[in-house]
Amino acid sequence: MSKRRLSKQQLARISQNQRKELGFDADNTIAAQTSLEKCNGRIISHYGQHVDVESLLEENEGRIIRCTQRSNLPKLVTGDLVVWSDDGADGGVILALGERRNCFGRPSPEGQFKAIAANIDLVLVVFASSPTPHVSLIDRYLVAIEQLHLRAVLVLNKLDLLGEEDLVDLDNMLSIYRTIGYPVHQVSAEDGRGMSELEKVLATKTTILVGQSGVGKSSLLNKLSSGKLADVGALSETWDRGMHTTTTSSLYHMPGFDLIDSPGIREFGLGHINEQQVFEGFIELRPFAGSCKFRDCAHKTEPDCAIQAAVEAGQISVERVESYFRIVDSLNELS
Ligand code: GDP
Ligand code: ZN
Repeated sequence: MSKRRLSKQQLARISQNQRKELGFDADNTIAAQTSLEKCNGRIISHYGQHVDVESLLEENEGRIIRCTQRSNLPKLVTGDLVVWSDDGADGGVILALGERRNCFGRPSPEGQFKAIAANIDLVLVVFASSPTPHVSLIDRYLVAIEQLHLRAVLVLNKLDLLGEEDLVDLDNMLSIYRTIGYPVHQVSAEDGRGMSELEKVLATKTTILVGQSGVGKSSLLNKLSSGKLADVGALSETWDRGMHTTTTSSLYHMPGFDLIDSPGIREFGLGHINEQQVFEGFIELRPFAGSCKFRDCAHKTEPDCAIQAAVEAGQISVERVESYFRIVDSLNELS
């Protein structure tokens, strides 16, 4: 099967488009970017044409201002630090975007990167005993998170539903990730088990939740907010209906930390990604890069393959390497 290769110019253009989405202009500087000290607000909700900005000014800290943005700015997202000013009526105008530390997003159906939230400390990858967790699905999330240079924490929810035997099976799977270096938490949003340890990890940070539908993300959000989030949700729904707009993401203040939830990032795919990026997304493979005899080694049946040798030596888990193959094979099927 012949793979479609992109020219250097095409690759440069894709990367330029992606950087533009992230808020960089053609000179690699952020358009209307400003230093963080000047920022007087933080975007906490994103609607179609508007954003809600929480004031960081001492005199009106916490006040929420519905703002429009100047047209020279890139698409602003929840978590962005901004400079805003009163518009003379009830709302405000965003004049500048503060430097982004990082950006979370997902590929659009057209293959473009779509920014959804900025300035993120952690991504919680939530899974549960039901729907049954699969290594491949978790690994797809991890590859995407690694590509964005963000930190992932794995959370197994619904611990209360697990019997002794299930627990042993799942523990075997989870120990693979612990060995690689990912923090793993086992919790129950139902009975509260493991929640205080999880809260310690989240303390002072801004975190995004991702995971399949039904694993309990909403339940976790609710539990972490001590039930207050149900009110917040009801409130913003009424607000939305009145404004005829849809929330795309919201930042919630929890006791001692912040959580961002967005229907658009709860479940996300890998989009346009190449074999090299998948390799880098399996962080335990990185030290072996370039050590195989053949430069184009597929790490399957080639002689003197460093990856196969590492599997045999027990340095890399078989499950993860098989999962790596499955993702790479799925890329090749697409091309
Ligand atoms: P989401 O789609 O990821 O937001 O999942 P939800 O929070 O809506 O939860 C899906 C279902 O799982 C609901 O029926 C919840 O009551 C249930 N659920 C969530 N967390 C737990 C848990 O820790 N234990 C049990 N037994 N059920 C849970
Ligand atoms: Zn190899």
